[in-house]
Amino acid sequence: MPQWMSEKLKPYNASIFDTIGQEVRAREGCVNLGQGFPDFDGPELVKEAAIRAIRDGHNQYAPLPGVPALTQVIREKYLETAGVDFDPAREITVLCGATEAMYAAITAICEPGDEFIMFAPVYDTYVPCIQMCGGKAITIPLQPPNFRFDPEQLRAAFSSRTRGIIINTPHNPTGTVFNSTELALIRDLCVAHDCIAITDEVYEYLVYDEHEHISMVSLEGMRDRTITISSTAKSFSMTGWKIGYTLAPPEASLAIRRLHQFISFAIATPFQFGMAAGLKHRHRLLPPLITDLKNKRDRLCRGLAAIGMKPYIPGGTFFVIADFSPLSTRDDVDFVLDLIHSDAALATIPVSVFYTDPGQAPKNYIRFCFAKQDRTLQEGIDRLLKIGR
Ligand code: PMP
Repeated sequence: MPQWMSEKLKPYNASIFDTIGQEVRAREGCVNLGQGFPDFDGPELVKEAAIRAIRDGHNQYAPLPGVPALTQVIREKYLETAGVDFDPAREITVLCGATEAMYAAITAICEPGDEFIMFAPVYDTYVPCIQMCGGKAITIPLQPPNFRFDPEQLRAAFSSRTRGIIINTPHNPTGTVFNSTELALIRDLCVAHDCIAITDEVYEYLVYDEHEHISMVSLEGMRDRTITISSTAKSFSMTGWKIGYTLAPPEASLAIRRLHQFISFAIATPFQFGMAAGLKHRHRLLPPLITDLKNKRDRLCRGLAAIGMKPYIPGGTFFVIADFSPLSTRDDVDFVLDLIHSDAALATIPVSVFYTDPGQAPKNYIRFCFAKQDRTLQEGIDRLLKIGR
């Protein structure tokens, strides 16, 4: 029999999201507050723009870097929010979601032996991408209960082997939004050690209360050492469209495009037109979505607190992680499986799976996604009452 899986892929199992998805399908009537996607559609205007693009004959390959209508509006957006002017022709590249963008960015710059620093809990694609390039991931824990990092620990992680740092803000799964002091320290360390910052800003618009999203590239000294990654998936509640992008200095963009030409080469043309319209009208479309998400966050956090869990109120994203230890002494993976198979029939995600170093992983947190219709959220809360005290 032939060997199908290469050695470099063997260390990786199916993701927890697949596993929980299968459990949910097997459990009739299960409410899924685990997986990170909205159970409602994004704005009509965006859908109509994509439909119009199809009708108008925009159905052939897009240019490799993306359709100009989209890259131009991305340029305007970053000029506005980060005060940085990117050249669409040489510095902006549309890719298949932030997922391809991250893979391309890491593969573009990582040599065997390079170290990349990142914060744990860590989004699940970063570490395999680095390892498959022969690099090494160094994780710095965001410490419960406030999920911030220890500056001394971060300083100590930088060395001559460090090639870069990956910063995901607002952060999945904790919802932590990195503040200006934290970003300034990261900037100072990047400059001092001549390192690259790769940012994952897919939740950039989903910030609440006094929190503010700051793009790393807007900090002095970072323009020429940052690869900024974002995606329209979460901002516009359309995770299935997979429109992501990188903004990076010309040489980095050249490397990213070289890889992109071998992966997918061009991204679905009509969806690019749809998202170009969405971003163009962002000032009108996004505020109501964000207000709605904030209300959902508050509703879920109140529900969790009422049954005795301790939610960490997220400054951003559409996730809440909650300490369930007042309700159960089981570890998070068992607790999640119990919840699915108990009378509650509710799916969540254990937070320990976002750690590569088991020693850093707390076992008493689960993640909820609150980008769900109010009736789904209420149903989830009602089901939690079944296990509450
Ligand atoms: N980064 C983070 C932190 C995410 O949460 C997600 C989506 N779950 C992605 C990247 C992937 O984004 P996309 O769907 O645009 O590939």
